[in-house]
Amino acid sequence: MTYIVGLTGGIGSGKSTIANLFVELGVPIVDADIVAREVVEKGSPLLAQIAEHFGKSILTEVGELNRAELRKKVFADENEKNWLNHLLHPAIHERMLAQLNVQTAPYTLFVVPLLIENKLTTLCDRILVVDVKPETQLARASSRDHNNLQQIQAIMNAQVSREERLKWADDIISNDAKLPENLPHLKQKVLELHQFYLNESRKKNV
Ligand code: ATP
Repeated sequence: MTYIVGLTGGIGSGKSTIANLFVELGVPIVDADIVAREVVEKGSPLLAQIAEHFGKSILTEVGELNRAELRKKVFADENEKNWLNHLLHPAIHERMLAQLNVQTAPYTLFVVPLLIENKLTTLCDRILVVDVKPETQLARASSRDHNNLQQIQAIMNAQVSREERLKWADDIISNDAKLPENLPHLKQKVLELHQFYLNESRKKNV
């Protein structure tokens, strides 16, 4: 069984950026955001159920999920949101487990924005938190997504606090320093953790 390193952090903290540095070292990734898209991909049974429930307007012309439309439908309606979550969450969970189970590498990086909120910490052997100041999150997430600061702040408020997240951390990567200037330092930190995880995974598998 692959050793599982859960990678988490708040919106805009730099999870994807750091996950990519692990990928460069050959580490396999299971990414909750990717799995969440896979379960509703074109032609999937879940997408058919969503279309049946909300009507065909939830599909694009080419038969893919129209995410903006779905967001509108569930945004102000708690019942619809619950219906959707009950449909998607077990499927996402099952698919993440399946992807983790087939890994043969010594360890796998399990990238989950809501690792703590959704109680997926129990699946992890080790938890790595990407930590930045709230100001950094606001600035980076808003410039990336062209969202306004209030929208980013609302998402931050719905996630666990920085303090709470850090309580769960076995390892921490601070990502406030700016790229690309800080890239050599970040790569070095990732390399050190990589070597540590390889060692830990060996201990688990003897
Ligand atoms: P989310 O959970 O919101 O998807 P994330 O935690 O995966 O975000 P990234 O997408 O990696 O975060 O980073 C957010 C934005 O900040 C991206 O545009 C990324 O290029 C940029 N970024 C990440 N780290 C740094 C850094 N150290 N310096 C400058 N920009 C950075």
